Amino acid sequence: MPEIAAPQTDLDAAPVHPSAPLLIVDVDEVIAHFMRGFGVFVARHGYEFRVDRFALFQNLYRPGETEPVDMVTGRALFDDFFRDGADDLEPAVGAADALASLSTKAGVLILTNAPDCGRVARAGWLKTHGFDYPLILNSSLKGPAVATLAARTSGPVAFIDDLLPNLESVAEHAPAVHRFQMVADERLRPIAPADRDRHIRHDDWPSLKLAIEAVIGRA
Ligand SMILES: [Mg+2]
Repeated sequence: MPEIAAPQTDLDAAPVHPSAPLLIVDVDEVIAHFMRGFGVFVARHGYEFRVDRFALFQNLYRPGETEPVDMVTGRALFDDFFRDGADDLEPAVGAADALASLSTKAGVLILTNAPDCGRVARAGWLKTHGFDYPLILNSSLKGPAVATLAARTSGPVAFIDDLLPNLESVAEHAPAVHRFQMVADERLRPIAPADRDRHIRHDDWPSLKLAIEAVIGRA
């Protein structure tokens, strides 16, 4: 059995109707502008975030330097951002309205890879920006957690994420789940790894909403 990286309490607590459609949604670069917010946050702490490649810590520099910061420094800033940086996080345009509409047709769950130190800030951010749906923290590839949740409904299940490895993981562990890729940051769109033949790609919420409605039904 693959290890499930989400806390069992989060998964157990997540409400899933046994026959209704279910929509499982990522946060960063799907409903929140993570890279943009992280860039503002690290700048305030004396670092530069350069969107040179589709990576996190390898894009973090001390001003004027050509080598990125070490992983320990990057990880510390990352954890600090999750704990203290919610005010720098902007919602993706149209996400709240689209999910509000989709939530009349499907259960909505938020499945985010975030350190536990960010749980309170993340829950607060979601509520503040109109995403008041159950929150599940995860810490690595999402396929096992999605498979666990999807097994609890006979209805269609859709999953949205920006990261190809998570989409591939869901394809492996829960192949019946409909997979959608969304990359909110315009700078990341051309460099984000994708496989459009395997995972439907929409980078704006109105189009994504229509594509999801097509698979979860218009009941
Ligand atoms: Mg993400």
